[in-house]
Parts: sequence; C-alpha cells; structure tokens
Amino acid sequence: MESIKPVLHVYQSGSTHWVGDGFHVRNLFPSNDLDQQLSPFLLLDYAGPTHFPPTDRPRGVGEHPHRGFETVTIVYQGVLEHRDSAGNHGTIGPGDVQWMTAASGVVHEEKHEREFAKRGGTVEMVQLWVNLPAALKMTPPRYQTLLRAQIPEVDLPDGAGLVRVIAGDFHGVKGPANTYTPINLYDLRLKAGHHAELTVPAAYNTAIFLLHGDILLNGSHALKASELALFDTSGERIAIDAREDATLLVLNGEPIHEPVARRGPFVMNTEEELVQAANDYQAGKMGHLH
Ligand code: MN
Repeated sequence: MESIKPVLHVYQSGSTHWVGDGFHVRNLFPSNDLDQQLSPFLLLDYAGPTHFPPTDRPRGVGEHPHRGFETVTIVYQGVLEHRDSAGNHGTIGPGDVQWMTAASGVVHEEKHEREFAKRGGTVEMVQLWVNLPAALKMTPPRYQTLLRAQIPEVDLPDGAGLVRVIAGDFHGVKGPANTYTPINLYDLRLKAGHHAELTVPAAYNTAIFLLHGDILLNGSHALKASELALFDTSGERIAIDAREDATLLVLNGEPIHEPVARRGPFVMNTEEELVQAANDYQAGKMGHLH
C-alpha cells in the first residue's frame, strides 16, 4: 500500500492582473515564490470566469514572443483563437487544450474567437508554462491542438466523478499530449459527497489547483476554489473528499534540475541567454504574424 503524500502548503493567488484586454488572471505561481518546487511547471494563471459583452473587435493579447518553454492553455468556458509565426492557427473551446512548444522562439497572439466575441460570453481558462530542458530550448517550435474528444475520460469508482487525462497516464489510460519530459496532467471532476484517490510518482513535483468547489485533501487540508495545494515529494497517494461538486487540475511532473533564468516571455538557463533571446526577438528571428 502506498503511503500518503503530505500537503506541504495551501496557496491563494499571489497576484491579479490583466493579460492584454482579454484575460483577467489570478496567478498562483511563480507569484507565491513557488519556482523550483514545481519544476517543470513554471507558471499557472487562472483566467476568469469573466463575462465579456459583445464586440466586433476580439479581445485578448496581441503579438508577443516566447522562447525556452511551452505554454499549455486549457479552456473551461468561452472560445479562444491562436495564431503564431510558425504558421499555426487554432480555435479551442470548452474541454479543449492547446499545447504550444515555443522552444527556439515563436511570436503569437491569443484572442477570443471572433464569433464568440460577437456573441459575448464568459471566458474561463488556465494557462500553464512548462519548462524545457536546456538541450531542447533551441529546438524548433511545435504545436498540438488537443480537442475535447481526443482527451480520454476515465470514470472514478463508485460514481465519484471522472478524470480527463490530458498528458501522461492514469491507470493505464494515456493522455494525447506529447511531452518532452514526463508529465501527468489531469482535469478531474468530483461529485459532492464523494471520495477519490490518486496515485502519482513520489519523486515528481505535485500540486492540485481547485477551480470550483470545496475539497478536503488527505482528510486534513481544506482547499477552497482558486487555491493551490503543494505536495511533498514523499508518498504517492492523495485522498480527496469533495464537499461540493469540484473541478480540479492535477499537476505532476519530473523536475528538471537545471538553473532557471526568466524574464518576461523568455525562460532560459542563463542571463546571457535571456539577453540573446531579447536581441533575437528584436532582430525578427522569431518571425512575425502574417
Ligand atoms: Mn503567450
């Protein structure tokens, strides 16, 4: 029998800001000084739920670069549209995920989809930043659209709810995301009054972010909506009791044991590489939107 994975700490959002004019986000990390403890995960922004009135000019964030990592966008409400300098274009709605590998560099825009913007409506999404090992930071960009129907749903015992496996493996069911380092990423839905247990690799870094509801972890730690629980690297088993219907995001990944140098949209290993990234962007080497 696996041992319980202790909760180290529960965090509330560490900062709140607008990303462009389309995403009102609460940041859970790195604003809580949670950098290396959650490697390979670098950032978690929770946008919304925010209601937007109808408009002919889609809101969002315009052309900007990234280098050295991946952005993972998980949509819960609303419809988003993405374009980048590698020629990728995609629309994602509720249940869909976009896994964009910036690697050597892309310039992209992230907007509300045009027809959705015209109707108006509520946007709710999570954006994660996932680090790349040094050896992969300057590889070509990659883009994965993971539509709702491609993401397997696994029913939990006793009708407790379900797990959508975005990346990695849950009880032998594999998620569709191709990841460069081992990652388990689950969108977990639990019904009020029900209990569930997860088993994760002990040595991976692990957190649970609660979007909706009210849960008790390991029978001892309450987690409210918009809070994040960080787990110890000992133990494998997490017990969850839902006191209300709950939507959870489970992050579990093998840490990348390398120095992290980050500024704005760039995450590299050294200060020199950050300067190079800014210069390369200015020089147009990450391309442009057409
Ligand atoms: Mn971006």
